[in-house]
Amino acid sequence: MKKPDEDLQLQLERAEVVRKMRKEKINNFICVLCGKRVTRESFRDEDALNEFKISGLCQACQDEYFKDTYIPE
Ligand SMILES: [Zn+2]
Repeated sequence: MKKPDEDLQLQLERAEVVRKMRKEKINNFICVLCGKRVTRESFRDEDALNEFKISGLCQACQDEYFKDTYIPE
């Protein structure tokens, strides 16, 4: 039987790997979801670019991801 601590450690290590991979993709301007290369110009505005730096989602993926919560001005 596994000790609960080992499970937690494993989960933390997995989370760390995912976090590192995401950071690496963001640094290389690659969308973490669709894998497409992005450019500064491919984002609608500064907010979308900042969102990419946090979530790693390109403009198209952001549109898809946030479309349910999008409120027109
Ligand atoms: Zn994408």
